[in-house]
Amino acid sequence: MALGIDMLKGKGLENATPFRFGKLGDQMLLTNEVGEWAVLSNEEFRQFVKGELPEGSEKYEELKVKLFYRSDEATQQLSQKYARKNAFLFSGPYLHIMILTLRCNEVCVYCHASRRDMKETSYDMTPELARVTVDTIFETPSDSITIEFQGGEPLVNWETMKFVLDYAVEKNRVAGKQLEFSLVTNMAAMTDEKLAVLMEHNVQICTSIDGPKEIHDGNRHLSGGSSYDQAVYWIQKVDAAYQARGLDPDLYHVEALLTVTRQTLANPRAVVDEYVRLGRKAIFLRPLNPFGFAVKTFEKIGYSADEFLDFYREAMDYMIELNKQGVEILERTAAILLTKILTPFDPNYLDLRSPCGAGIGQVAYNYDGTVFTCDEGRMVYQMGDDAFQIGTLPGSSYKELLESAPVKALTVASTLEANPHCMECVYKPYCGVCPVYNYAQQGGLFGQMPTNTRCKIYKAVLDYLFGHLASGNEDLLDIFRKWTIVRDRSVFFMHD
Ligand code: SF4
Ligand code: SF4
Repeated sequence: MALGIDMLKGKGLENATPFRFGKLGDQMLLTNEVGEWAVLSNEEFRQFVKGELPEGSEKYEELKVKLFYRSDEATQQLSQKYARKNAFLFSGPYLHIMILTLRCNEVCVYCHASRRDMKETSYDMTPELARVTVDTIFETPSDSITIEFQGGEPLVNWETMKFVLDYAVEKNRVAGKQLEFSLVTNMAAMTDEKLAVLMEHNVQICTSIDGPKEIHDGNRHLSGGSSYDQAVYWIQKVDAAYQARGLDPDLYHVEALLTVTRQTLANPRAVVDEYVRLGRKAIFLRPLNPFGFAVKTFEKIGYSADEFLDFYREAMDYMIELNKQGVEILERTAAILLTKILTPFDPNYLDLRSPCGAGIGQVAYNYDGTVFTCDEGRMVYQMGDDAFQIGTLPGSSYKELLESAPVKALTVASTLEANPHCMECVYKPYCGVCPVYNYAQQGGLFGQMPTNTRCKIYKAVLDYLFGHLASGNEDLLDIFRKWTIVRDRSVFFMHD
């Protein structure tokens, strides 16, 4: 929110460090560049801007501690905190997404990946191409490498996945990086043999649960069976396999993702109950995105941002209620934002940082050798538009990929200082824009935030969180602080 002309004359601003502000109900929220925040009454805000907030008053001291007042010490602290919050800028791409195949054994109404039929084996990545891809991945300057298997359904190209697991471990004997693997799977092609190999390689497994069985099976069709039954059966087996390796089941278990369709909207409580019943500790409530089949099926399964937000708030209210009764369940988007709001760290979630991770935090390698800024860029390619392609393997060098025009363009377009609305937004310290989303929804890399659905959703989620934080309710704050605890992932590093 911009300051009015009369406010700009306030002498208090001479003593203030740079800040943003916005209405929060009938109060005023202040944030600064390092993510500190304070809630002021309108009168306190007027006094602050005019330089009339009494020195020594509770609000004055709070603002001083939170670095809203200028001093040599504040400048030093601000620069240290800024460096810590933006440390991700210096690490290079760590997330490397390998699309092992476009084939899939399920048909989802919203498939963002434009899946192919099981018999179309020409949509598989060959082990030869996988070797070149892994060689390229290991050229990253980042100390950590996460290779994430995506599809289609990656398990249906088992030969190549197995090759990558072994070859990457072999390469890492020399490279000595923090190597991790993760797999995003619908579980329907899992077997005991595959699970044993995945466990040997410390692979973190993530799946989809769209809510109770009727909703899940309605969204995700598995020929001749129930996709829900398959997912639940294997969730339990994978959890048991983690436990057999001595891992704490409270911290280490299959993570599940949920894509919200119109069919989910009426059932926020049932969705939460289902996750709790399945022993999950986190729900990732993700709206539909304008990629893949979801564009064609939107008329049938889509909804407005307001409808999504009603659903989201009701699910959140219910999760908070359950937490108060001692049930551990958190919402992932809220947890990412709360980590930015309540801790000195940035969780480096690539879609919610400035600049975003496109090319400089992640790279996506397609089954056919085409390489993209991120998986979403690859999704746009599958829709017939190569705007986010950064090269082709074999052929492109690591330097060529990273110095390509799309990486530069997306880095600029996702830097919030380059977006007039974000620049002034009180939520800038916690937010991030997605140029690929902007391109797909609004036709340009720089989104028009006043009509941008993604912006509207994040703004409302942040309104919701700050509305609760401003209440000062200590029990609630304790719950939110628990949501920011990050589990130690070193047990998944592959050394040999
Ligand atoms: S362009 Fe969008 S999807 Fe790609 S990394 Fe950036 S925020 Fe994520
Ligand atoms: S995307 Fe929207 S909510 Fe986020 S910083 Fe920009 S204007 Fe604010």
